[in-house]
Amino acid sequence: MKIVNYKSPEELKFLSDKTRAETNSLVKKLKKKKPKNLDNIVHHLHIEAFDEFDCLDCASCCKTIGPRLTDKDIARLAKYLKMKLADFMTQYILTDEDNDYVFKDHPCPFLLPDNYCMVYENRPKACREYPHTDRKRFYQILELSHKNCETCPVVYDIFEELKKKNW
Ligand code: SF4
Ligand code: SF4
Repeated sequence: MKIVNYKSPEELKFLSDKTRAETNSLVKKLKKKKPKNLDNIVHHLHIEAFDEFDCLDCASCCKTIGPRLTDKDIARLAKYLKMKLADFMTQYILTDEDNDYVFKDHPCPFLLPDNYCMVYENRPKACREYPHTDRKRFYQILELSHKNCETCPVVYDIFEELKKKNW
């Protein structure tokens, strides 16, 4: 894959809107066919992309969406910050419309001005796993990943590469 270029959230939104119909059609095709080599291809593109692209030049996910947090994530972060759980909850956490715990603010309260994560070693599980392009059974998260094209330039470019293949 060509080197992933940084794209601002506005640019990604524009590009995702522009390519939505063809991406929808790819998603439909892949969901139906469930190609056996899809994981291999996506994992290969993921490795190539992150070999070249430095998340510190981007941090779009930390600035715009933020993770869902598990009870374990919250307990670990509170402990790391030497805060009482109740105080941590009050200061940083709210429950969203799906009843999931999320950070109150965007950008993430732990994102530093140089795009480093203040709690990196203790960051939530969802932060470690984002953007999910190295997970198994990628066909199960095609729609979520299509949505992530609006946030993550790597996911956007992986979909653009997938479109070039003969499925
Ligand atoms: S906890 Fe760290 S990795 Fe997760 S959203 Fe915040 S700054 Fe980003
Ligand atoms: S995971 Fe994607 S959106 Fe997040 S910092 Fe890396 S390239 Fe940017």
